[in-house]
Amino acid sequence: MWTDGIKNSFQDADSIGRALGLPEDEVEKIREVVEHFPVRIPEYYLDLIDKDDPDDPIAKMCVPSEYELSQDGSFDTSGEESNTKEEGVQHKYKQTALILSTNVCAMYCRHCFRRRMVGLTDAELNKQMSAAVSYVKSHPEITNVLITGGDSLMLPNHIIRSYLEEFTKLPNIDLIRFGSRVPVSFPQRITEDPELIDIFREYCDKKAIYLVTQFNHPRELTEEAVKAVRMFRDLGIQVRNQTVLLKGVNSDPEVLGELLRSLTRNEIVPYYIFQCRPVRGVKGRFQVPLLEGVKIVDAAKGMQNGIGKGVRYCMSHPLGKIEIIGELEEGKMLFKFHQNKYPEDRSRIFTVDLDKSSTWLTDELMPE
Ligand code: SF4
Repeated sequence: MWTDGIKNSFQDADSIGRALGLPEDEVEKIREVVEHFPVRIPEYYLDLIDKDDPDDPIAKMCVPSEYELSQDGSFDTSGEESNTKEEGVQHKYKQTALILSTNVCAMYCRHCFRRRMVGLTDAELNKQMSAAVSYVKSHPEITNVLITGGDSLMLPNHIIRSYLEEFTKLPNIDLIRFGSRVPVSFPQRITEDPELIDIFREYCDKKAIYLVTQFNHPRELTEEAVKAVRMFRDLGIQVRNQTVLLKGVNSDPEVLGELLRSLTRNEIVPYYIFQCRPVRGVKGRFQVPLLEGVKIVDAAKGMQNGIGKGVRYCMSHPLGKIEIIGELEEGKMLFKFHQNKYPEDRSRIFTVDLDKSSTWLTDELMPE
């Protein structure tokens, strides 16, 4: 059973140290981090690590680092608190409701932008599904819901079924998205649980359903991961990918280019490449400067066919989703709102003078 895989995951410093052959001083650093932020690495994902490479990109995403104790950065970089309208229901963009359905993940990613809550507290979660359903029902402008967390596919099957049952009944809803990194970090949740696929089979003809996942490195696209994705694809459920641009993981045009190619080869549509947010304990470790990021993304897109070229390099700013289009002239970056909290600014185009180290559009950099 897949639940055994979760129980047997690596969840403490000593077992990770033993599995990776780490020296005691490294294990001690992990111990310190684990006192503040949870760790969980399924054996499947740990096996993807190249233990002989001290800079292994897979290890960077799952093994705690002392940098996580840095106080630099913020825990709510895109204004999630101010967009929360009901317990666990965010409504930032007119058409979209986002539901924080769980704080559980199969793996706790070290770059997570919700590290303030995943594996820690349920304070921000939607505990009353009926309240979320009423909110969506009473806002006819909402046409889609994103069920996320945490990892929405770590919810028990009966809860997933209830979300599908409730939201497929609402006439204002065109589509339902499930946000999950399970196909990447623990595909056995899907491949070893036929009931889960049966549930999605029951509802996939009632409304459009999308699975939104997060592959960040080509080595994550294993046979098992592709099999899990294919089980959704076989139901007609489109699988889309949101990559986070991460320093030392995929901040190389060849690696990012190969990731996009592998995604399209496996019928996963590359959707967004997100600028890593200035999250406390994450920003200095994983953020790539914007001027560098746009060059990496452009070079990677240059290696793609038309489907791969459709990916957009974006950032989730408190004001909305901003597309990072390119450098107009030296140091002057062109941006475009792709979504905005304020409808009159929905498609606004603007430029910002950046220096080489700028990794985010801070309030001081944003134009009036
Ligand atoms: S699976 Fe998603 S929510 Fe969970 S830790 Fe990873 S990035 Fe964060």
